[in-house]
Amino acid sequence: LVVLKNVNKHFGALHVLQDIDLTIARGEVVVVIGPSGSGKSTLCRTINRLETIDSGEITIDGRPLPAEGKELARLRADVGMVFQSFNLFAHKTVLENVTLGQVKVRKADKKAAEEKARALLDRVGVGAQADKFPAQLSGGQQQRVAIARALAMDPKVMLFDEPTSALDPEMINEVLEVMQQLARDGMTMIVVTHEMGFARSAANRVVFMADGRIVEEAAPEQFFSNPRSDRAKDFLSKIL
Ligand code: ATP
Ligand code: MG
Repeated sequence: LVVLKNVNKHFGALHVLQDIDLTIARGEVVVVIGPSGSGKSTLCRTINRLETIDSGEITIDGRPLPAEGKELARLRADVGMVFQSFNLFAHKTVLENVTLGQVKVRKADKKAAEEKARALLDRVGVGAQADKFPAQLSGGQQQRVAIARALAMDPKVMLFDEPTSALDPEMINEVLEVMQQLARDGMTMIVVTHEMGFARSAANRVVFMADGRIVEEAAPEQFFSNPRSDRAKDFLSKIL
């Protein structure tokens, strides 16, 4: 579904993505881990074209990423993204946050969009918050609204970039549980996270990055019990 071929990107002199080859099948859940600065966020951002690439090729569903205009807006809807900071529209209610994109990008009818939004908000456990503003919600609730907002666009793939790392500890699980459920429901997911419990239980594959390269890829059981590279061994010894 998502294919990166020989992708390279620089920030000035920094070669932030180096010869990245990565193929993600429909329904697959891939967890990306690695040290700070290894290029994990940049990798995510290239997939919905928040960052351009210098060389190589990225396709989604066999099609190269569009550069601009309506096509780009549609791509961003097809590739749902959830960030560390929840990025909700502060001056819109929760319901409006989950309705807007459906109407603007997907051209949904307002009534239908609201019904779908309410169903999704119920699904992620924040149905009772629909008429509040984001600032009136806890971090965990806001992040679940952000997930509902992305899901409202019927994305082909969901990208999560450290979705729980800005949350107080007691709110982490409520967000991880929503993500677990999404994984079980068959969503294609790319998840950057330090939550190794999630990686073990939800991931089909772990991708370990260091210095802009994919150093190692393996099934979680194999990666955590028997990492092959010294970089991965060193990383795991620090976080586990
Ligand atoms: P973290 O775990 O801290 O989130 P990361 O693996 O997500 O790290 P990236 O955010 O992708 O890493 O950054 C990779 C490198 O690129 C870092 O050295 C960072 O400073 C640099 N970088 C990221 N964005 C930019 C930018 N817009 N301009 C210049 N350099 C950047
Ligand atoms: Mg990052």
